[in-house]
Amino acid sequence: MTLSRRLIVQANGPWCERLKVLFDRMDQAYGCVAGAYGFHCRGCEDNCCYSRFYHHTLLEYAYLHQGMGTLDHGTRETILQKAADVVAQSNSADKHGHDLKIMCPLNAQGRCLLYTFRPMVCRLHGLDHELCKPGQAPVKSIGCDLFRKQTEQMMYIPFDRTPFYKDMAQLESEFRLKTGIMDRMKYTIAEMLLL
Ligand code: SF4
Repeated sequence: MTLSRRLIVQANGPWCERLKVLFDRMDQAYGCVAGAYGFHCRGCEDNCCYSRFYHHTLLEYAYLHQGMGTLDHGTRETILQKAADVVAQSNSADKHGHDLKIMCPLNAQGRCLLYTFRPMVCRLHGLDHELCKPGQAPVKSIGCDLFRKQTEQMMYIPFDRTPFYKDMAQLESEFRLKTGIMDRMKYTIAEMLLL
């Protein structure tokens, strides 16, 4: 059985339910803060789906593949072809030392085809936010260009990603201990789709 099949089987049920609960909490917190700013993401030239985000958890990987299972055969095939193209172009750009911005293979006409199943980074991107490490001052980071433009001169509204990162790490660690799957994860969406 391939890694993705094994993961999907093992992540089914309670693990994915727990991941969904965590994702709901992220979405709610994000929605509250975005709403307080009056920030709306309606796509932009510097679309974050062009960013090369890496994802690090087996559970998000398994959940994304579960999402693929909800799509019809033709859509899945189109996505997989695009993913192969994205990986080939990215590898070539890396080899030649070029920066490459290339659209995520799941984005079709500005819409994420697996929106419900998208990973944490896609859910939290955009807003000014902070991270708190024990014994250290919070580290603040700025949001995306569209957010900065829309919220110019507004005061920072606290958006602490720390509890979400911690809970994701905890859930992933429990899943790995339970399943004994210790494979290292550092993959883009395109790479995850092809595994
Ligand atoms: S998974 Fe969806 S939200 Fe995330 S980068 Fe791809 S298209 Fe955009």
